[in-house]
Amino acid sequence: MPHSKTCTDVLIIGSGLAGMSLALSLPATLRITLLSKGRADECASAWAQGGIAAVLDASDSLEAHVQDTLIAGAGLCDETAVRRILEQGPDAIAWLQQHGVPFSTQANGQLHLTREGGHRARRIVHATDRTGLAVHQRLLQACQRLGHITLLQHCTAIELLQDAQHRCVGATVRNADGRHQRMLASHTVLATGGMGQIYPSTTNPATTTGDGIAMAWRAGCAVRDLEFMQFHPTALHINGKAVGLVSEALRGEGALLRLPGKNGNPGERFMLRHDSRAELAPRDIVARAIDTEMRVHQLSHVLLDITHQSRDWLAQHFPGVMALCAAHGIDIATQPIPVAPCAHYTCGGVQAHVDGRTSVAGLWAIGEVARTGLHGANRLASNS
Ligand SMILES: Cc1cc2nc3c(=O)[nH]c(=O)nc-3n(C[C@H](O)[C@H](O)[C@H](O)COP(=O)(O)OP(=O)(O)OC[C@H]3O[C@@H](n4cnc5c(N)ncnc54)[C@H](O)[C@@H]3O)c2cc1C
Repeated sequence: MPHSKTCTDVLIIGSGLAGMSLALSLPATLRITLLSKGRADECASAWAQGGIAAVLDASDSLEAHVQDTLIAGAGLCDETAVRRILEQGPDAIAWLQQHGVPFSTQANGQLHLTREGGHRARRIVHATDRTGLAVHQRLLQACQRLGHITLLQHCTAIELLQDAQHRCVGATVRNADGRHQRMLASHTVLATGGMGQIYPSTTNPATTTGDGIAMAWRAGCAVRDLEFMQFHPTALHINGKAVGLVSEALRGEGALLRLPGKNGNPGERFMLRHDSRAELAPRDIVARAIDTEMRVHQLSHVLLDITHQSRDWLAQHFPGVMALCAAHGIDIATQPIPVAPCAHYTCGGVQAHVDGRTSVAGLWAIGEVARTGLHGANRLASNS
């Protein structure tokens, strides 16, 4: 197969939130090439619903966020990495606001903070329930405005290139027209997201096939904790199949998990039998509890009930979930939502320092593909 050759300073493989944030943060003196396997918006980042966790309320504290993260991670987080990453939360939100991300606000103009499982405080910044799309659109526009950033869509990296000393010097890429090209770079960054698509049922987009982890492994780079795949407790389940995500923020706003009762009505509430934090226990606990109930009662799903909230309130706070359910004939203002757990987040990945360094010189890993020690065995909601 003939190979053409191009050179760049920084080759970023992946144009989700991780790849674009890096591209926008590097000096404009560098030539940056940003790849996406499909269209730029076909990534987990654009699909994120709930929001981004950051300590912004006076009654909250960094220490509380750290402790919630360590508890959710089942004692397997790297505490130094947790502290270094979480302390940057408020600055990261301010940076996104500078890029024009329209986060939801309260009547007084302050950011509206919602709550999710495993968090002891309201600390989730969001743009209704379409946070990822709002963030992705703004950062994509910013990248497209800058002349030193070249975005190449429908370009798939298939192999990392290494010199005689095993330093990474770029990647072989299959272009939109199917031709292979060698892209040489002083620095190569894996920002390829997770690997949810290797499971039969997942919330992840089709692009999420673990390419970055596989390429890093083949290049002799350390990978770690690949067994820690997070299952989201509440994927919308229709005819035995996951068809989308029902944000954890619904439970943060009082939605209850129930067994199906008679005539399709919601039956017994069961989470209190599994954990004193009930619906707001961390994800792994809620997912396991649902799985147990499904096995014991031989069910294809359980029900998530938010009918205590008014239609107007739901339309204001959860327009995305409302539209998704309506497309499958479910009115969440009057009907419970059929849900079941499915593969959602890759907690392990390419072993990386919090600054993205990997065990191979010239190769960096950021975002979901990286295993920094932030998540341990289980990611705390909205911590990605
Ligand atoms: C439905 C859903 C809801 C979520 N909600 C939340 C939430 O509310 N809060 C939260 O914190 N997290 C949430 N997450 C997780 C979060 O969205 C992701 O962890 C995060 O967005 C990952 O960002 P990323 O940039 O690392 O990867 P992605 O956004 O997945 O981007 C990966 C990029 O890599 C590209 N790519 C992959 N392989 C190749 C290749 N071989 N060659 C070239 N390009 C390649 C893809 O095309 C894509 O551009 C959610 C995830 C999903 C799926």
